[in-house]
Amino acid sequence: MSQPSQPRQPTVEWQVCGICNYDCSYCIQSRETRQGHPSPAEVERFLAFFRGLPGRWEIKMTGGEPFAFRGFMERIVPGLIAETPHTLSVLTNLSAPLPVLLRFAALTQGRLGIVSASLHLEHTSADDFLGRAVPLRAALDPAARMVVNEVLVPGRLGEVAAARRAVEAAGLRWFPQVMKVGPGVFDYQGGDVAAVRQLTGAAPTPRQANLAPSYRGRMCWTGVEYFVLTQTGEAWSCRTARRFREGFLGNVLTGAVTLRSAPEPCRYDICPCTVPANRGMIEGIGAGGAGVSAGGGGGGGAVETLP
Ligand code: SF4
Ligand code: SF4
Repeated sequence: MSQPSQPRQPTVEWQVCGICNYDCSYCIQSRETRQGHPSPAEVERFLAFFRGLPGRWEIKMTGGEPFAFRGFMERIVPGLIAETPHTLSVLTNLSAPLPVLLRFAALTQGRLGIVSASLHLEHTSADDFLGRAVPLRAALDPAARMVVNEVLVPGRLGEVAAARRAVEAAGLRWFPQVMKVGPGVFDYQGGDVAAVRQLTGAAPTPRQANLAPSYRGRMCWTGVEYFVLTQTGEAWSCRTARRFREGFLGNVLTGAVTLRSAPEPCRYDICPCTVPANRGMIEGIGAGGAGVSAGGGGGGGAVETLP
């Protein structure tokens, strides 16, 4: 049965750069697309766009890896804080040196939404990761949220479970994500099936796990109060729509962006990212979660997703 929808939080997911200092085997972005970043002049165009965006949006910045782009800490974060009213959030692999992360914490006091930190055991250990995550949490705006994401990598779920225990023992929130491949989600086999169920819970809400469900037919406000912005300036109504080359809203760098005026029914079989659901964009999907059915074929496309 559906829950009442939660209030909508206008949100833009901005892929500030393509570059990443990691090369995870399960990354949905190909190496060919995991490249590039805006020029200094383009960064200024993005900032001008955000200065002109009416209201107070949450700007959720992703990559690649945002901290791997020099302009992120040199201009983007200070510029958004000084020149716009918006709330800042970030998805990061948390590999940046601790002093850089602490500077981010200082800059964003009073303006931070969520830090979504992805733990990639192919590139770091839980101890190394927590060596940055714990002091960062202590330094962040107390009103901000922080969550540790981890992909449920097949065949390695014992390691994932151990990392979960370490993360939770450190007082941090842990958020599991099923692995996505191609157009859908990975088809876990054998003992992994029960292990995934144990790690995600039997019927998790979008705040508890990302199972890439289907919301086909539900009214969705993406394109109105939510959009995806790429490093090349393209604005799209949601990640799945972009995958199908639908929902194009314009280009920040080469023209204007025109948002939709009203919600539309979802026409896709997979909603790979939890952000639209958790920002109240999908009618009938409340904070308590509802109607989460495992995703089928169709879209996909998020590199990583955020609570
Ligand atoms: S999954 Fe994230 S951290 Fe890993 S290579 Fe892809 S963008 Fe980088
Ligand atoms: S896939 Fe998700 S975000 Fe996109 S239109 Fe459907 S419900 Fe909305």
